[in-house]
Amino acid sequence: MTARVLGLRVDVDTHDGMRLGVPRLLEIMAKEEVKATFYLSMGPDRSGLAVLNALRPGFLAKMTRTGAARVYGWRTILSGTLLPSRPIATAFPEIARRARDAGHETGVHAWDHRKWQDHLLGFSPEKTAGELDKGFRAYQAIFSEAPRTYAAPAWLTSDDALLHEETFGLAMATDCRGTEPFLPVVRGRTLKTPQVPATLSTLDEALGDTFTDAPSYFAAMVEEAARSPWPVFTLHSELEGGPYAEDFRVFLRAAKAAGLRCAPLGELLAERQRQGPLPACTMHHAPVRGRHGVLSTQGPAASI
Ligand SMILES: [Zn+2]
Repeated sequence: MTARVLGLRVDVDTHDGMRLGVPRLLEIMAKEEVKATFYLSMGPDRSGLAVLNALRPGFLAKMTRTGAARVYGWRTILSGTLLPSRPIATAFPEIARRARDAGHETGVHAWDHRKWQDHLLGFSPEKTAGELDKGFRAYQAIFSEAPRTYAAPAWLTSDDALLHEETFGLAMATDCRGTEPFLPVVRGRTLKTPQVPATLSTLDEALGDTFTDAPSYFAAMVEEAARSPWPVFTLHSELEGGPYAEDFRVFLRAAKAAGLRCAPLGELLAERQRQGPLPACTMHHAPVRGRHGVLSTQGPAASI
């Protein structure tokens, strides 16, 4: 029996997640012989107090018990508020290239993650394009090649963002939550850049809410992935590459034991495309349990 694919998407959202979390994940993945797609925030780490505000009270209480500062570090919590913000991937180009050179897929996550998630829905089309361009230029400077994939910060995108992304000729993007890869329909037009949606809840959404401890959360995600046709799991370098690194290693082993092959999103998409054309779907904004505000979500297949 050939193993089914579980797409692994690593979001790098903070300076320390880049500095400490990415090397740790690279080490774990090398040992477990797993490849993933790393999405790098490029510019200022202004996560600051938003790291805490964006979290569910349950997760915060859970972290406070073990120490929120231990999970994110006070430097991150104060970054961009009481202390100056620090750059993320642009501060560590060598670590970024190390991920690619180890055989992982790499892509753009953000220029300024916080600004995007707080203000995207009020941006003009020019401002949206400008933010995307800044992130893509930074990637080009680090890797000396154009990015092939992009993941919108906080799973939040807009029609303007999707239309501008289309001009980059990407192999794929992962800008939303959903159930399976699809082609987005924007203002009546079916775009060429496939979306590979994240399908599973993240640790920070679930812990302290639907799950009381990390091991039961990770075990449940393996079970859910084994039941889903095209599962995509999102991890955060500052969490699964930090205090939850050993839980993540257990997750990788459990996924393998369940007949799942962890792989970059590009491989999951290629596998799906071998089975026939992708559906065309609209996207909308909707709340997701455990997150503030709205996220972009895959809608039903459009009849065109
Ligand atoms: Zn992110």
